[in-house]
Amino acid sequence: MERIYLDNAATTPLDDEVIDCMVNILKFNYGNPSSTHSLGQEAKTILEEARRKIADSLRVTPGEIVFTSCGTESNNMIIKSAVNYLGVERIITSALEHKCVAETCLEMKKLKGVELVYLRPDSSGDFDLDQLEKALKSSDKKTLVTLMHANNEIGNILDIERVAHICKENNALFHSDTVQTMAHLDLDFSKIPVDFASCSAHKFHGPKGAGFAFVRKSSGLKGIITGGPQERSLRAGTENVTGIAGLGKAWEISQDKMEDYKNHILGIKHYAIQQLKEKIPGIKFNGRSADNSSLYTVLNILIPYKNPLIGLQLDMKGIAISQGSACSSGASKPSMVLMSVLSEDDLDNATPVRVSFSHFTKRSDIDAFVSALQEIGESFVIEKADSVHR
Ligand code: PLP
Repeated sequence: MERIYLDNAATTPLDDEVIDCMVNILKFNYGNPSSTHSLGQEAKTILEEARRKIADSLRVTPGEIVFTSCGTESNNMIIKSAVNYLGVERIITSALEHKCVAETCLEMKKLKGVELVYLRPDSSGDFDLDQLEKALKSSDKKTLVTLMHANNEIGNILDIERVAHICKENNALFHSDTVQTMAHLDLDFSKIPVDFASCSAHKFHGPKGAGFAFVRKSSGLKGIITGGPQERSLRAGTENVTGIAGLGKAWEISQDKMEDYKNHILGIKHYAIQQLKEKIPGIKFNGRSADNSSLYTVLNILIPYKNPLIGLQLDMKGIAISQGSACSSGASKPSMVLMSVLSEDDLDNATPVRVSFSHFTKRSDIDAFVSALQEIGESFVIEKADSVHR
């Protein structure tokens, strides 16, 4: 059975060039970057080259890139350290954040008594930024604003440049979870005054287990993993040289090919929208995911009947999609994001499905997905009719 992968917001397949680069390093560059001998220094050079490439594209200095194991670790480190070391007493966030941000904020409330303020999204999943300004002006407490750049489920993009300026004007720190946009959009942090951001290599054809936190030089943030002086003491522990080299390679490819990949993926997304509208009567799209303003890799669909088994049925046909966010797929309860943007009627009587694309996605993958949905829809209607007659 041919496998069709439409779950690229959860993770992406590795690029061949990334695999080759990592295999070489596994075989030959086994030195510890902290060792002073030449094998160690070669490993150190590999790390610093990856760091420089990333820093150049983000228009920041290499010292502002801290390698971590993933997006979750980066977000944890930033939020926990802002509370522990920067005197943050209040966090402004939203119900649409990824679990690794949402749960960390809740923990900071429980353990440190941090006040949590949630911005309310509208029914499309967007935020009125006047709400943020009002919240910022309503208290003198030292505040961290944490709002994601692009939503991993519905693809809404936040104007982080504007949010960063609002935060600066109101003396607040700003962290953005940029896991879904790093290496997919051109981010220029010399223009966007964000204090902290996060990245995960496996979202753009790099390996799992490698990511980084962007930590603005002047911020004073400290690490939460203590030990050796690695990563300028912001993240102790021997570096994952192979993973970081893979991250650097995947980063380099995605910077070189960003426009080509974006055009290809947008073509796929528009084709998917058009085919779904034509072949699945009553189909709708959630959040802003079908709008041109959304993240081009994500499309969140509302199938016009209730079928909690749809993910499993598609999987049996060789098609991988997501029914919630990656971490909570398999859970029968809709995610907080879907609960925020769907009406009660839609939650009761329809089925949300997220498909997400990469430059490997082909039009024939979309054709197979749409015809599988048609088949499932037809058998579903017959089964329902049968059960009514029984
Ligand atoms: N933030 C967002 C928006 C994500 O989509 C994800 C992964 O799904 C993460 C954070 C967590 O990243 P990682 O899987 O690298 O821990």
